[in-house]
Amino acid sequence: MRLRDSTLLLTPTDIANHLACRHLTQLDRARLAGERIELRQDPRIDALRHRGETHEKGFVNSLAAEGLSITDLRSHDDPAATLDAMSAGADVLVQAPLQGDGLSGRADVLLRIGVPSRLGAYSYEPADTKLARDTRAGTILQLCAYAALLDPMQGVLPEHIHVVTPLARERYRTAHFDAYFRFVRRRLEDDLAADPPPATYPEPVPHCDVCPYWLHCDRRRRADDHLSLVAGGVVRAALRRHLRSAGPHRITEPTPGTFLSVR
Ligand code: SF4
Repeated sequence: MRLRDSTLLLTPTDIANHLACRHLTQLDRARLAGERIELRQDPRIDALRHRGETHEKGFVNSLAAEGLSITDLRSHDDPAATLDAMSAGADVLVQAPLQGDGLSGRADVLLRIGVPSRLGAYSYEPADTKLARDTRAGTILQLCAYAALLDPMQGVLPEHIHVVTPLARERYRTAHFDAYFRFVRRRLEDDLAADPPPATYPEPVPHCDVCPYWLHCDRRRRADDHLSLVAGGVVRAALRRHLRSAGPHRITEPTPGTFLSVR
């Protein structure tokens, strides 16, 4: 998320991150307000990003090998460049900047398809290249955001969104996820507008593995003796909720009668 002329612009990643962790949204909000939060530097995440870029390149090369024309827009920031390339009828747009209705982002790949639109006898659908074998809900929401951005540009909502993994090219109907996308986006916007901000806590979630705020959240949990620290995190979220409802919030405050015993 960023401010442009005092207007908040969300990215598709913000929406996916919000779904993964509401606390992350509040940390983004604090940083935007000028709070200094130390970010994790992790070579494994850099390596993952590099593998992701290689995967995207491989997919684009495979499209070029099929004889499709490729327009790479990574050196452009202005969404007008994307509209120009769409109007010119490019087969494939790569790293296309998109913006509108409080959203801004860069689509990995836009694929030209034969569905008529205001552009002509064709329109575009977004595709995202992902390394994960199982498609995550956040990936679908990101693609729904790109579809929503394309809608006013071409006058038609893309019927499909595409996820390209190393093993397969998956196709999903946008209409099946659009309402959920709008729900999560609205909840994100509400959380950002709430005054005071909603009380959130850095409960460990799978996204922590790649989250830049991990150091910050880990310090907070340790300072709080958070239950997730027991035996390397074996106390899972559901059990933590149960234990909290029974009383303890810290490792050092076990509930009498439970198996949990920390000396
Ligand atoms: S490290 Fe985990 S708990 Fe903290 S903001 Fe990131 S995802 Fe949320």
